[in-house]
Amino acid sequence: KMKLDVDVLRYLSKDDFRVLTAVEMGMRNHEIVPTELIDRIASLKHGGTYKVLKNLLKHKLLHHDSSKYDGFRLTYLGYDFLAIKTMVNRGVFAAVGRQIGVGKESDIFEVATEDGTVLAMKLHRLGRISFRAVKSKRDYLRHRSSYNWLYLSRLAALKEFAFMKALEEHGFPVPKAVDCNRHCVVMSLVQGYPLVQVKQLQNPETVFETIIGLVVRLAEHGLIHCDFNEFNIMIDDDEKVTMIDFPQMVSVSHRNAQMYFERDVECIFKFFSKRYNLSFKEHTDENDGSDVDSDENGRPTFSSISKSAGFLDKELSASGFSRKDQDDIEKFIEGGNEKDRSSDTEGTEDEEHESESSETINRTLDSLHLLEKEENALNFVEEGKVDENQQSCE
Ligand code: ADP
Ligand code: MG
Repeated sequence: KMKLDVDVLRYLSKDDFRVLTAVEMGMRNHEIVPTELIDRIASLKHGGTYKVLKNLLKHKLLHHDSSKYDGFRLTYLGYDFLAIKTMVNRGVFAAVGRQIGVGKESDIFEVATEDGTVLAMKLHRLGRISFRAVKSKRDYLRHRSSYNWLYLSRLAALKEFAFMKALEEHGFPVPKAVDCNRHCVVMSLVQGYPLVQVKQLQNPETVFETIIGLVVRLAEHGLIHCDFNEFNIMIDDDEKVTMIDFPQMVSVSHRNAQMYFERDVECIFKFFSKRYNLSFKEHTDENDGSDVDSDENGRPTFSSISKSAGFLDKELSASGFSRKDQDDIEKFIEGGNEKDRSSDTEGTEDEEHESESSETINRTLDSLHLLEKEENALNFVEEGKVDENQQSCE
């Protein structure tokens, strides 16, 4: 399987990035960007665009398609490089390290800042798999090229970033949102492990109650996580809880809000009853001082929570995530549960993107800054070395 070799980044010249960016711009209204259009946007002298295209294709940053007309589209790798380069230029981080997570819709890497602080970078990959929702929307997707994976992945990242910031401001235990560009979110690295990997807890009851308390408090703020489970809750050595993974969150005014809320709650109850043998009927009443009622099985009831909606509109639009963005993304991410999703999405990878689906960044890039400084010296397009035989359309 193909690996994402970030080292290539340092050999990419200004012209390489100019053409890569031209393809990205063309993809706003073309699924496959006509080669002529790329050339016009990039406007390199002396037919330079064509040489650069070959080079980018060779490094799998672009995909060539000549089925309808001669053109190119970005691969995930190409999009990754654009986002990573932007982050490096902004000084957000200077190096990409090992992969620490593979989600259904994302890849997560450690990145390091100039001063050695390690952060987490999440690259969103909508369109890697077909969600139930996307599947049924496929025709729609086909006819609306603006709703392509670039757009959706960018929207997912923006949403995640906006929620993380707003939740942090309201005192929720979430990673610290650092920056966001394209489909990439940079956040603080959470110490510890997903709850699912934790073998033993000192105080399972406390952890359980903290977690259920979070679901309730989210609803009080007008929000439902929609994927709240042992994969998206991190636990550190002191059994401190951090919640992650927000692209599928919805408002309590969503038409399926109650169902999503109950499903989140049920996931947590099931997990703790199975793994920690907790039983719930007993501590329904002493459980907290809140006004929230519990049903006969100890589950907090959605209707008894006093919810202040409007979180989505007010707080999130401040981060550039609008109500319309929320409506758009909801069409494609049907608040699915990771565990539910995994079973019915097998073998349904979007054929357009499956070739890049397993790219991983697994190399340490000690100094991406080389890129800027030694760009001229390392100018990669060593024309003579481009092997014509490798210029296939794969
Ligand atoms: P997905 O949406 O693909 O499920 P997640 O945000 O849940 O992506 O991340 C997948 C995995 O990556 C998590 O289960 C966790 O192990 C790891 N991870 C994600 N964010 C962080 C972080 N900020 N710090 C440490 N590990 C993280
Ligand atoms: Mg997750």
